[in-house]
Amino acid sequence: MIEPDNYEVTSKKDRYEDGHYYTAVKTTGIYCLPTCKAKTPNKENVEYFKTVLEAEAAGYRPCKRCIPNVDSVNWRDYKKYIDVVPPQEFSFEECLVYLNRSDTECLHKVKGGELYKLLKIEDWKVLFKIGTEATSLRVSFLNDQPPKWVRGQIAKYIWDLFDFDTDIRPFYKMALHDDVLHPLVGQFKGLRIVKMNDIFECLTWAIMGQQINLKFAYTLKKRFVEKYGEKIHFDGEDYFLFPTAEVISMRSVEDLKSFQFTTRKAEYVLEIARICASGGLRKEELALIKDYELLKKRIVSIRGIGNWTADYTIMKCFHQNCAFPLADVGIHNALKGILKREEKPSLQEIIRLAENWKGWESYAAFYIWRYLYE
Ligand SMILES: [Zn+2]
Repeated sequence: MIEPDNYEVTSKKDRYEDGHYYTAVKTTGIYCLPTCKAKTPNKENVEYFKTVLEAEAAGYRPCKRCIPNVDSVNWRDYKKYIDVVPPQEFSFEECLVYLNRSDTECLHKVKGGELYKLLKIEDWKVLFKIGTEATSLRVSFLNDQPPKWVRGQIAKYIWDLFDFDTDIRPFYKMALHDDVLHPLVGQFKGLRIVKMNDIFECLTWAIMGQQINLKFAYTLKKRFVEKYGEKIHFDGEDYFLFPTAEVISMRSVEDLKSFQFTTRKAEYVLEIARICASGGLRKEELALIKDYELLKKRIVSIRGIGNWTADYTIMKCFHQNCAFPLADVGIHNALKGILKREEKPSLQEIIRLAENWKGWESYAAFYIWRYLYE
């Protein structure tokens, strides 16, 4: 296959059609932009989808030639590195403060104002670092030179990581007239919800953190990841991937208890691993549920998952911004400080405050949490 020099020069058959629908081929399990130059399949083998989400929920994978799921991402490809162009309302520095809040974090490193992360895309384990260059995020590949379709998927990963699809201007407009949020959005301008790609990781992390302090939660995660996660060694340091549901589903309660998981937490994590590994909980399918209550109902139906975990997961894994982890102790403590109170506000008062945040509760929660990392 011939690779074009960069993203812009990729010639399109008919640019107008792109983005209006996607063509999926039953025999290959792959979906494409309508202008893809791959061989036209037989008519009876083609299905059409309006969105990437629908194609992926139906089990199709993106084509490696036209990389259809990356079409909406604003990025430039320079082969040895890529630039991802964020929306204006974004501060990489603010997001790094959040990402750097624990010195026991084992799934990324923050060094010299740059973020180092290992990602696995099919068989490619790509270590990259993200820094800034003028108005872009510059992503340099460290251990390997991935092909174009992998570079595209990394651009997409970063796009989703910092929630660039969300226009946060209406949130800022609302916050101007809100006593709690007004000072926060001024101080932490450009902070965006840092998302999680992997729903198994998100649920496992939420369960690990229940009823223990954050410091110990990070220690548990480190033990778990270092034991069961894949890794690469680069420039004197190890970089880890979160263990897959498939790997964890083969472990026992005793295995996890050896890292000081309680019996109950170990059982929950193993159960979720089994469900995820058997295809019973696919993020692609859940992402199609646009109704927040329905989505939450679906997630809390899993044993061990309560309201807090479901809201945290919706906030971190999906493009819905109305989830709010009401019972979160961090939020209660932060509100006490922000409102300059002697006591934490009651749940009733928090519900009342949150009425003003309708549709933006997740962003409100994320900014309130940020107050604690000062
Ligand atoms: Zn294609």
